[in-house]
Amino acid sequence: MAETNNTTCSICGKGYYLCLACKSHRTTPWKVLTDTAEHYKIHQVIKGYMNKVYTKDEANKKLKAIDLTGIEDFKPNIKSILYEIMSTPMIETEKADVDKAVYTAEKAEDKVAKNDMATNKMNDNKFVSHKKERYKGSGKY
Ligand SMILES: [Zn+2]
Repeated sequence: MAETNNTTCSICGKGYYLCLACKSHRTTPWKVLTDTAEHYKIHQVIKGYMNKVYTKDEANKKLKAIDLTGIEDFKPNIKSILYEIMSTPMIETEKADVDKAVYTAEKAEDKVAKNDMATNKMNDNKFVSHKKERYKGSGKY
């Protein structure tokens, strides 16, 4: 075995081999972070979203152009962010948006509950802090 996995993909968590000696990662810089070009695109969207460069809507639109095959096997933190972004229907009101974000967070914790939209618990504290965060972020950019 000359090529043992020495890196893990920052999106799916799969191990892969990155040859730091050869120059392949200079022409394809994403190889340092992810195993596929598609996963690197996902990484870029998440990074932009976390840094508030993209709004949720913008991030969602970008995700739609990316192949998300295998999302079930992505790293848990990546998955929950992706679900959070994608759970935002672009035409709905902000309140519905927050409802869904809370719902997805719960979903990430409990994989068993699948289509249980009825148990849409609303936590007032979460709601307030979420709103504050949004406004703080949108003011910056
Ligand atoms: Zn990957």
